[in-house]
Amino acid sequence: MISMNLNYLKVKESYLFADIRKRVEEWQKENPGKKVLRLGIGDVSQPLTPSVIKALHEAVEEQSHAETFHGYMPECGDPVLRKAIADWYRKRNIPVDPEEVFISSGASDELGDLLHLFERSLPAMIPEPAYPAYADANLMDGRKIIFPGTDIENGFQPLVPEEDLTALIYLCSPDNPTGAVCTKECLEKWIAYAIRTKSVILFDAAYESFVYEDNIPRSIYELEGAQECAIEISSLSKTAGFTGTRCGYTVIPMDLQRDGLSLNAMWVRNRTTRTNGVSYILQKGALAVFSEEGQKEVSQLHEVYRRNAQTFMQALDEAGLSYAGGKNSPYIWMKCPCGSGSWETFDILLKQAQIVATPGAGFGESGEGWIRFSMFAKEEDVEEAGRRIIRLRNEKYF
Ligand code: PLP
Repeated sequence: MISMNLNYLKVKESYLFADIRKRVEEWQKENPGKKVLRLGIGDVSQPLTPSVIKALHEAVEEQSHAETFHGYMPECGDPVLRKAIADWYRKRNIPVDPEEVFISSGASDELGDLLHLFERSLPAMIPEPAYPAYADANLMDGRKIIFPGTDIENGFQPLVPEEDLTALIYLCSPDNPTGAVCTKECLEKWIAYAIRTKSVILFDAAYESFVYEDNIPRSIYELEGAQECAIEISSLSKTAGFTGTRCGYTVIPMDLQRDGLSLNAMWVRNRTTRTNGVSYILQKGALAVFSEEGQKEVSQLHEVYRRNAQTFMQALDEAGLSYAGGKNSPYIWMKCPCGSGSWETFDILLKQAQIVATPGAGFGESGEGWIRFSMFAKEEDVEEAGRRIIRLRNEKYF
């Protein structure tokens, strides 16, 4: 009889967004015609930028002529794009070699696939609340998970455990869902811990481009020692609107060795076996993001989301509500008022103000009592949501 991976039974159905959708649909059926403001899901609302679109069109055209046609691409990525990304790091004084950059179809794919490098007996360490895919991917693999907490008083910084353990450590900065950013001091502690325990850090930098403050690291490699203990996983999804287009990149330094093995060499071996790479067309689009023009356009794109965050934070301040994130992040993590639960607050927001947010409980037990707002929504919707929250507060709904 065939043996299945029974670890899948340990993974809960992904109810969160399905539950949200169901509640919103039911409410809309009973209350037709009311405008619902969607600040729940972390998907972008701004289109791809002009230079990306131009590059994509050109690449499609190239594929239609025998002289310029491209078949299979190198599995680890187009060398031109790998070099452009390495140069982009180097411009910020972070020494990354093109051979250390791997082009991917996005951070989610990498976060799941990278687990293949590690023995299943190695536990995963996931500071909670966290992006649910971290725990689910490890549960599917049968890995034990340790959930160190976060320092709420200190802006949700992930707390280094007291006990020394060798683990696969997940750090996400700017964080989804809390919007927290790891300070240099926080990352220094984690790097020291990872080196001491021979652990490996998976640094999820999917939201790095939202860091505006100079003293907050955008890359873990800004810190000494990170090259010896960390893999950085990045994505163009939120940086350049690639959520539906799909392209990302991962850095695995040559200096990262465990058990006498080079993780970079292992990943080359993995990629050349388990993928045939990212499409030529998409990599051309991605390359445009790293051009001078592309970088200017991307920062304009970010201005929209940044303005959204400022508008919404002002509204929460005016309403006297507590929150984290928003400053270097597209997420605002609000404390549910009056001691109410995440879903209770979700219902009040939906029924009394037609605002959709994501209940914090969906990001782990410690997310209960919090709710996440996404600033990727349209500007006019964020402005209106701010006004409605102030009204809710004035009318003492919470
Ligand atoms: N990491 C975090 C923290 C995310 O929030 C997301 C998506 O929302 C991803 C990774 C996945 O990004 P991608 O679209 O590149 O797969």
